[in-house]
Amino acid sequence: MKIAIIGAGFGGMAAAWDLKKAGHEVTIFESADYVGGLASGFKEPHWDWSVEKFYHHWFQTDKSMFDLIHELGWEDHVLFPRPLTVMYHKGKFYPFDSILKALLFPGLGFGLDKIRFGFVGLFLRLTNNWKALEKTTADSWMMKWAGKNVYEKMWKPLLIGKFGPYYQDVNMAWMWARIKARTTRLGTFQGGFQRFADMFAEKLRESGVEIRLKVQVKSIKREPNKGLVIDAGEKEAFDKVLVTTSPNLMAKLCPDLPENYLSGLLGLKSMGAVVMVLSLKQQLSEQGYYWFSLPKEEGYPFLALVEHTNFLSSDHFGGDHIVYAGDYLEAGHEYFSMSNDELLERFLPTFKKFNPKFNKDWVKKVWVFRTNYAQPIPLVNHSKNIPPIETPMEGLYFASMSQVYPWDRGTNYAVEIGRRAARLILQ
Ligand SMILES: Cc1cc2nc3c(=O)[nH]c(=O)nc-3n(C[C@H](O)[C@H](O)[C@H](O)COP(=O)(O)OP(=O)(O)OC[C@H]3O[C@@H](n4cnc5c(N)ncnc54)[C@H](O)[C@@H]3O)c2cc1C
Repeated sequence: MKIAIIGAGFGGMAAAWDLKKAGHEVTIFESADYVGGLASGFKEPHWDWSVEKFYHHWFQTDKSMFDLIHELGWEDHVLFPRPLTVMYHKGKFYPFDSILKALLFPGLGFGLDKIRFGFVGLFLRLTNNWKALEKTTADSWMMKWAGKNVYEKMWKPLLIGKFGPYYQDVNMAWMWARIKARTTRLGTFQGGFQRFADMFAEKLRESGVEIRLKVQVKSIKREPNKGLVIDAGEKEAFDKVLVTTSPNLMAKLCPDLPENYLSGLLGLKSMGAVVMVLSLKQQLSEQGYYWFSLPKEEGYPFLALVEHTNFLSSDHFGGDHIVYAGDYLEAGHEYFSMSNDELLERFLPTFKKFNPKFNKDWVKKVWVFRTNYAQPIPLVNHSKNIPPIETPMEGLYFASMSQVYPWDRGTNYAVEIGRRAARLILQ
């Protein structure tokens, strides 16, 4: 078969790997001039490692990713440091990355709230019945079972931070999946995610996959006696096509899909993200904290401050200290249209809260990355609204972050759904 894949993110590349191994002719179309998609990174000339544009790490439970890495023979390139994550309470940050630290966290007091927090956490770790949990919102479930105090202190800020105005619409299975699958040890690839993506692309090319960079697909149509015709400036026919873009883009690329499939795609909601990356001359969090979860309702202009070089040594980055300031936002939010300088002016005063000695002369360079499609929003009974990978147009397949469920999207699940799509194509 002659197969086209749209997108050289981890989903598209994982699918290409399996389809090529099965003996087919595979071409990947990628509009960017690099592979890796949302997990791609960038590098300064004096850095040995790349930095992800949007902060990325793996959890120890990311089985599909580690199975693939095992198959590629690159286990030695995976690192699992144990960085420190902290939670905010009344102007201070407290470590929050083990059961003991959670028990000591003053934000929950020392009475009934802490017991409820512990029991709810334990129940969610033990249950596998996410289908029952998706019938209700995280907001109402947590309010009922964790109680108002625990919910408002612990879970509501997380929901607001990630889903903004939709925080009361997100289903409880999403929250369950986060609590169930996340680990305190966090992993990465030696050299950065971009190095992994580049090595993977090289391996694909060696096996005969053609990767066409800087080629944007404009439409996909089924034409009689030809098959699926891709228009990417020039037209070319394929037997099967797998699309790995956002649902909105998929709907634009394939307007001939039946109305009910198209409306299913357009009904899926998601949040965008704006992430500022700064290289600093000095360490920001002298306590060595990696991840600060911030309460936006207390005036913080972004959701998370992540000091990458408190996770990985600054030696990999020529001694620079790398810090992310990031937020999940609705398309149309002012951060999407503000200039980088305006955004810096908005974000920088907050940095003194992480280190009172901080001053703006520490900033060497600033980058800002924006995406409209960063985090799908799973509404109540989301499982019933997920468009199938195999579309009603013969030979056309679709695998995106919005179909990853009940787990929260991530490179691990991009690999899983990409390989699942490949299996369906091979059937
Ligand atoms: C802020 C943020 C933080 C994240 N943190 C983590 C994390 O810590 N750990 C983790 O594992 N994951 C994380 N993720 C999620 C992870 O990046 C994604 O789940 C994963 O990269 C999705 O892979 P994909 O292949 O499905 O899609 P993508 O990576 O989006 O790939 C799709 C590709 O299609 C290309 N494309 C689009 N339209 C066209 C067209 N018309 N023609 C040709 N090509 C096209 C795009 O350029 C892109 O390269 C994060 C994401 C964000 C935004």
